[in-house]
Amino acid sequence: MVDESLVDALRTASRVVAFSGAGMSTESGVPDFRSPGGIWTRYDPREFTFDRYVDSADVRARSWQMRREFFDAAPQPNPAHDALVTLERDGRLAGVITQNIDGLHQQAGSQYVVELHGTARDVQCIGWPSRPGEPAGCGWQGKTEWAFDQVDLGVDDPTCPVCGGLVKSATISFGQMLDRSVMEAATELVEESDLLLTVGSSLQVYPAAGLPELAVQAGSRVAIINDEPTGMDHLADVVVRARAAEVLPDAVAAATSQTG
Ligand code: NAD
Repeated sequence: MVDESLVDALRTASRVVAFSGAGMSTESGVPDFRSPGGIWTRYDPREFTFDRYVDSADVRARSWQMRREFFDAAPQPNPAHDALVTLERDGRLAGVITQNIDGLHQQAGSQYVVELHGTARDVQCIGWPSRPGEPAGCGWQGKTEWAFDQVDLGVDDPTCPVCGGLVKSATISFGQMLDRSVMEAATELVEESDLLLTVGSSLQVYPAAGLPELAVQAGSRVAIINDEPTGMDHLADVVVRARAAEVLPDAVAAATSQTG
């Protein structure tokens, strides 16, 4: 399915920045919080606040179970992820900003990805935080498989191998501060873009909702691909109400072939 307004927006842009939300990965089998079925019918995302994680060994153990279930499903990038790689290789995509923690953009081959909410592929020591929402670990980091190996050895709540502190996914949980340097990198990308392409985000909560506003202030165009109305459609030059993998690959192919 080719959406001509989207093709035109991509073809006339020289510095696209993509911003992806959970809807980018639903076609990879990773459900968003609202999808019927899937992991979020068995785990309540609201249970995994930062404070509860710190307070409860049971929440930590359930969190590793949930992560294990996610990785056992072995999600793969879908054609929408691949389309952004094509656009980057064509020299017209400056980077991807994502709310997703699944690592699928990098797995697809995207080179510059700013992960606003961190990554579920890594773990880190968060020490024994004294201030709510402020990780204060010793600096140890590892791959998520390390935690799974510990769980397999019978350790439900693995602790830091260096200092004995708590270990958590390198993700931003509810109640946790966003990393300032990551937000700065995202802001810089958007300010230097000439097209912000948002894909699969409801754009209802900040900081996601702020990126289209920032783009407009910076004089950049905004294109939105989402299968339902978003909170920022009124700011967009192009709104495509469809599933990402059904429209983005064809639009990128058409836009790159017309200039290539
Ligand atoms: P959201 O749930 O607020 O919005 C997702 C939007 O994508 C919805 O409007 C939905 O209708 C739409 N959508 C779903 N599938 C689509 C498709 N194939 N094509 C086009 N649109 C589609 O998601 P959000 O804005 O990313 O915020 C949710 C939060 O949940 C974020 O903080 C994110 O970190 C987290 N989350 C991440 C993942 C992941 O890493 N893949 C999965 C679930 C939740």
